[in-house]
Amino acid sequence: MIRILFLLFSFVASFSMAADYPSDPGSRGVDWTLVKQKVNDYTWARSIVNDLRKEVQRTQNQFQHPPFGKTGWWHNYYCSEDAHRLDFHPEKPHEHICPSCKKVYSGPPYDDCWNSIVHVYMVRASEYAAILYRLTGESQYLDYTRNLLLWYADHYDEFEVHGEHAGKGRIRSQSLDEATQLVSMVRAYWEICPMLTPQQRTHILEDYFLPDAEFILSQTRAIHNIHSWHNAAVGLVGFVSDRNDLIEKAIDGPYGLKQQIAKGIQEDGFWYEGSIGYHFYTIRSLEPLYLAARAKKYDLSEMGKFLQMYTAPLSFSFGNGEFPSTNDGWPGTNIREMTAYYEIAAHLMPDSEIPGYLANMYQDRSRSTLDALLYGPTELPAPKPFPSESVLFEKSGIAILKNENINTYMKYGPYGGGHDHKDRLNMIFYANGHVLLPDLGTSGYGIPLNSKWFRAPASHNMLIVDGKYQAACSGDLVGFGPSHVHAQVTKAYTGVTIERYLSLHSNSLSDHIKAASQEEHIYDLFYHIRGRLIDCSVPLQSVPCLTSGQGYDMLSDLQKAEIKNSVRLVFDLRDTTSQLVMMCQNPAPFVLYTGTCPDNPADRKMDFFFLRNTSKSCQWTNNITISGGKPDDTSAVR
Ligand SMILES: [Zn+2]
Ligand SMILES: [Zn+2]
Repeated sequence: MIRILFLLFSFVASFSMAADYPSDPGSRGVDWTLVKQKVNDYTWARSIVNDLRKEVQRTQNQFQHPPFGKTGWWHNYYCSEDAHRLDFHPEKPHEHICPSCKKVYSGPPYDDCWNSIVHVYMVRASEYAAILYRLTGESQYLDYTRNLLLWYADHYDEFEVHGEHAGKGRIRSQSLDEATQLVSMVRAYWEICPMLTPQQRTHILEDYFLPDAEFILSQTRAIHNIHSWHNAAVGLVGFVSDRNDLIEKAIDGPYGLKQQIAKGIQEDGFWYEGSIGYHFYTIRSLEPLYLAARAKKYDLSEMGKFLQMYTAPLSFSFGNGEFPSTNDGWPGTNIREMTAYYEIAAHLMPDSEIPGYLANMYQDRSRSTLDALLYGPTELPAPKPFPSESVLFEKSGIAILKNENINTYMKYGPYGGGHDHKDRLNMIFYANGHVLLPDLGTSGYGIPLNSKWFRAPASHNMLIVDGKYQAACSGDLVGFGPSHVHAQVTKAYTGVTIERYLSLHSNSLSDHIKAASQEEHIYDLFYHIRGRLIDCSVPLQSVPCLTSGQGYDMLSDLQKAEIKNSVRLVFDLRDTTSQLVMMCQNPAPFVLYTGTCPDNPADRKMDFFFLRNTSKSCQWTNNITISGGKPDDTSAVR
């Protein structure tokens, strides 16, 4: 009798949902039978499931419910002294400690950031719990996800619109975070949808998802990573609520998924904002709606360019897999850490070379991401080495020259918007497994060091004119070959043309820079070396620090020498036993400045030098050699 009642109840429950709600409860286009099979057959898959369980358990133990009130912008959650990210303690909402200098921060904006982090943890745990419920059917996971969805539906209208950076949020402090949170919550909802009562569904949709989606949609107005996240949130809400108008705006609208892909992705496969961090972040924003649309069998033929976003970065890294951290890129990011993206790429392009590259990424680590569990191939093929040839990304205006020992990067254009560091003809030098002359990328945007140093001209390996920022502009490619790149910029400084020609040799790089103008200017050619100056061919004299801003005021231990034509500097390198030798030549006399400056994080120091020429034009022939190698004849290169 009990069994009959149970069957009857099940029938009624399933009948009532089928009438009102999407028949396909899978938001991610996942083959759940295959996922269960992976868990059954593979230790790595079971280990991922265990990690999800632990994460849900940990979050459940730490937080009863999300915090009320304002949330903060996570770029503020950094130490203002040394740019280290502050430590988050679940039990200390008013105490935020720098792991490096131990300074304790309290009050706004740090307490508000603490609130944001709790939302992130709880939302993530509820998404994990929904997946665990689909895999295991254990009711504790259903309860966790359902309770959080209902909590947000109960309290959504108690959160006030707030935020000062990049759009407004309600639960969160900007439209971006509002959207990323909504994406996770909709995905969680979609997985457990059949187990909710009609009243619960209506409450969640009408009191949280739909008003939040409308609120986010009202702020969508650009081809940009943030607005791409808006689309993901709005489109997924459209799918779970059968609101075709929302789906259409998110996919086909003037700033919808199709237009983001058509206009935001360059022909060479890179996202236009010009940093590898935002490239991958944008992939992550495009994936949810792309995968949901694919699962719903939408026509994706206009969106093929999306797949190029996975292939382009494979040849963008240096020999150790590290990406150039240009613009607002995070330093030290490595292609091998991007396995989550390439698990999905392997799912979308199973017959390509992607699964082989994915196997390569796993040579020193095991499969541990959620995407490996949900999308990844069950077995990986033999590892395929990453491309090691020199490469030109013509539309993005980036060249990387590579040989076995040395890689060098140069950027010439186009301007990529607010995350661009205005650093045309900036150079990065990599050798012996390390980035030795870096671009420092970014710290949290909220701390003063970010604009004072990381985005400032004087932190880049480039020519600065009159101590000023470049204009927002693009440069031009003059020539490119497997071992050379030649570019110029005419709009960075009014009336000044700058050219840079990099030429790669087996153990050295020659760097030719010319600048020409009708007027006299102060030309400063900067180099930053992750090492310590141990020898200089001319005597140096200590001089007071500079105060002119644009990063010059961050230069310390300043020394100076007047040079007739050439100077040789030798550096002991920080991360390798080799030495770096710089030979710098100019037909005219010049001034050499040396000293130390912040690395990233800023409590690490490195050395810099710059060469100053005050004239109408200048011409440098410089050579960077790694010790142990034979210096090349730089004068004969061109
Ligand atoms: Zn600190
Ligand atoms: Zn930069």
